[in-house]
Amino acid sequence: MKLIILSLNKFKISMQRIVFLSLGILILSALSINVHAQRQYGGFYTREKINNLQNNTQNHDWARELKDITIKKAEPWVSKSDEYLWEMVPGQNTPRCIDVTLDRVAKGPKLLGCLKCGMEVLKYGNYPYNPEFEDKPWKLTCPSCKSVFPTNDFGKFYASAIDERGQFDATKGDKTLLFNEAHPNPSDPMHKYGVDDGFGYIDQNGRSHKFIGYYVWKKWDYISSGLSLLADAYLYSGDKKYARKAAILLDRIADVYPEMDWKPYADKGWYHSDGGRNMGKIHGSIWETQIITSLADSYDKIISGTIDNSELFNFLKKQSEKYTIGTKGSRALLIQNIDDGLLRTAYKAVLSTHIRGNQGMHQLTLATCAIALDSQPESNLWIDWIFAADGGNIPGLMISTFDRDGTSNEGAPGYALMWGRLVTQVAERLQGYPAYTKHNIIKEFPQFNTTFLVAYRMAALGIAIPNMGDSGATGTVSNAYADPKFIAKGYTFTKDPEFAKAAYLSNKNSADKLGRDIFSKDPDAISKEIQRIGEKSRVRADGGYLMSGFGLALLENGRGNSGVAIANNYGRTIMHAHPDLMNFDLLAFGKWLAPDHGYPEFATKMPSNTDWTGSTVAHNLVFVNEQPQKEVWGGHTKLFKQLKGFGVFELDGKTAYPDLNEYKRTMFLIDAGADSNAYAIDIFKVSGGQDHLYSFHGPPGDITNTGLQLTEQKTGTYAGDLVEKGASANGFPRGYSFFYNVKRDLKPPAQIMLDWKVETGYRGLKANENIHLRMYSLTQSNDVAIADGDPPQNKPGNPKKLGYVLLHRKGENLNSTFISVFEPYKEKPFIKSVKRIDNGNESQIALEIEHINGNIDYVLYNAESEKLMKLPNNISMSGNIGYLRKQKGQVVKSLIINGSSLSHENLNLKSGGQIKGKIIKMNKNPSGSGWVLVDQILPENGSLNGEQLIIANKGERDATYTIKSIKREGKYSKIECGPITFAIGLKNPVAQNSKDPYANYIYEFEEGDSFSIPAHNEWSSNK
Ligand SMILES: [Zn+2]
Ligand SMILES: [Zn+2]
Repeated sequence: MKLIILSLNKFKISMQRIVFLSLGILILSALSINVHAQRQYGGFYTREKINNLQNNTQNHDWARELKDITIKKAEPWVSKSDEYLWEMVPGQNTPRCIDVTLDRVAKGPKLLGCLKCGMEVLKYGNYPYNPEFEDKPWKLTCPSCKSVFPTNDFGKFYASAIDERGQFDATKGDKTLLFNEAHPNPSDPMHKYGVDDGFGYIDQNGRSHKFIGYYVWKKWDYISSGLSLLADAYLYSGDKKYARKAAILLDRIADVYPEMDWKPYADKGWYHSDGGRNMGKIHGSIWETQIITSLADSYDKIISGTIDNSELFNFLKKQSEKYTIGTKGSRALLIQNIDDGLLRTAYKAVLSTHIRGNQGMHQLTLATCAIALDSQPESNLWIDWIFAADGGNIPGLMISTFDRDGTSNEGAPGYALMWGRLVTQVAERLQGYPAYTKHNIIKEFPQFNTTFLVAYRMAALGIAIPNMGDSGATGTVSNAYADPKFIAKGYTFTKDPEFAKAAYLSNKNSADKLGRDIFSKDPDAISKEIQRIGEKSRVRADGGYLMSGFGLALLENGRGNSGVAIANNYGRTIMHAHPDLMNFDLLAFGKWLAPDHGYPEFATKMPSNTDWTGSTVAHNLVFVNEQPQKEVWGGHTKLFKQLKGFGVFELDGKTAYPDLNEYKRTMFLIDAGADSNAYAIDIFKVSGGQDHLYSFHGPPGDITNTGLQLTEQKTGTYAGDLVEKGASANGFPRGYSFFYNVKRDLKPPAQIMLDWKVETGYRGLKANENIHLRMYSLTQSNDVAIADGDPPQNKPGNPKKLGYVLLHRKGENLNSTFISVFEPYKEKPFIKSVKRIDNGNESQIALEIEHINGNIDYVLYNAESEKLMKLPNNISMSGNIGYLRKQKGQVVKSLIINGSSLSHENLNLKSGGQIKGKIIKMNKNPSGSGWVLVDQILPENGSLNGEQLIIANKGERDATYTIKSIKREGKYSKIECGPITFAIGLKNPVAQNSKDPYANYIYEFEEGDSFSIPAHNEWSSNK
């Protein structure tokens, strides 16, 4: 995970606040000992919630089962001795890091893999070692070669190095224990091999292998998870022995936590989740949010279990006599120590950004800490910070980074969805804490609710969320992000039946466990409501849609595994996204057939990421002037229309190549008739520059072609005969060195055909499933190459390689229109031939697609829609998009989009044409209701509901909105776009003394901008 970079300005303000607020804390702490002694319950886990939980375990089998499972899981923890638990907690001087060999400062390769088997271990993922803390303490076992490191008995060394405060200090340890146990003879050359004193084994090249560092990172999370099991077991059982064990861990963590600082290890070049800032405490600043949230939550749970727990206080007193750790031995001292050492330390660390994750993470940490502290006015002051503009800034983020589809400013789904999840958790925490009344996230920001449905909507054909940017893996088909339980929360908060329906449908037509709250009196009240609503709802509506806020254009034909879909991402290419604006993938037969690489080998600065997985040319795009795309907020919608059996969109991606005249992609998805087949058309127009490379890769598997005469390049890569595979881009374009097994045709014909046969095993493809993807390319190139390229090799299930085709055009002030037809098929193709039937004028394109069954489709694209388009076969169109299907010589279907007429023989289809006008007025209220007043009289009959209102704005964001309803107002029409806001930020500096309450907001578009709404007319013989 990467950190969102803070502006320096904001950082300074937080620093000032820390100083200011810490003074306040000092005064409060001095007064608060008595208050602590009286606090009987946690702020979140109140007496009432705990009683409800325990009653529910009496009355419901499922709750009893949960209890039994938890008690069983907590058993190994509660049976550990008090001393053992206390000694488990490492201090600041116990090193930690998240990779054994990754090094930010060392020369040479960034990582080395296993000391024995090298890079083989990478197959087991980014974090391949899973220490067995109980059975193999202080050891890592390589999952690939099974070697065990370090070779010394580190446990013995650790025990010898405990200082007067009970903490490890390597300098105090017995160095004679530092030898390879299998080679105890000092003259044995292997005597020191694989030995780690905590700071890593240094190999013959001077590189460190930090076995213990990695182990200790994992150990912290192991302790935190054991602690939460103990805390849960206490809640379920009310048995104070669990609270005692948990409190011992918490008290000890509170002893060491103030001193914890990740920086000394970061400075050595070690890795952690610190976003490259070298900040953090136990962990890097990003993951620090998670461990502290978890520790504070456990503390909140067990507070009541520390009352009259003399065994606990006696033990702590005994420890305080053994070590220099301050006075211990009473409940007041325990609470004081954890409040100060853990919660207040964490508060300060959030403000100083030592605890700082992706947006939502540190806000959640602080809310959890504040509520666990439950001391007024201190707790509410902390929570205020979450909303303050110079603090957690929830209101500002709602406007500036949260889009109308419910995602954040990240482009990769995993990251883009994260903020909604996290802010929902903040909202839930705060709802469970009635002492704070100043803000209610759900009520204050109605636009936030889209977040509950966004993942559900993102899933192509309802089954697969595209693997965009640093998300998923190559070809992963999963809609796991569309979690029904999360959608049900939307219903719990809002009672909007849409959420209930979506939750029910995504839960495989069931309300089972949805909205269940074990802390509530009637834990399944919500589930019963969802059941009632869900039973009556229809299945997920067919057909794609546009998510113009996130930047995803989805065309669909059919549904589920028998459907076909195109997903084009034209949103964020910043942060965890790739520079891949307008990249597309094609889903058919339940498989991604033009798969994005997904999550890179390592999301860091390495050639395999920056020059390959995270490069433009690795995607299905036109790579221009040998330069990657510029990283941007997104592209702009020019057209989107999804009708039954026919879908089209046109996207403008000029922001990614601002020096070009045009960088625009138009894609179609057209139903092919029987057995739910469909084919796609891609028209990619690039104008300007001198080098255009259309890159496309299909699924893994063999490629056959017709039309090409290929010559094999004997050595090297696409970057050159002498450039090795994977070489860092230096003197050649990024990505070229990752294309290998290069074959070229230097005089390619104007039309070629390629056929990928999907390889057995690809994402579960069975040997008898004969699936192909065919590509007809109708573009004259200077040269065409076929090459292999490897997706990340350390992600389970990723293919070994992908087959690329590279269509290359060059020349001065180049104008290219790359036209391709993609046909996914099973067993036998359904397309017989594809022909261009236009006169070669690049702004008027016409394709004739003849099907095996005799049907003929004509697809017309006219960039200048006001110009008449006349084809030799007697078809003519005034308009932008036309489509005709002929069966046995008769037109059976016709369609026109944004035009006035389409005629052929005795057919003449008329249409009113595109709707155009100006925005007269807009709702400027940033709190969730998007409407505009336009200077046109529009139909109120619902015929435009679901269509796109496309506003020609000057800003970088796509001002395209789905129309919810239209109402006439005099000579104007009011278009409602639902609970969204048009505000996208605040002016800086702010305007002074304006009477307009919205004077300081920046909007996606302006009053006076022009707009259009696509219009169509269709005719079919069977209607
Ligand atoms: Zn190994
Ligand atoms: Zn990608």
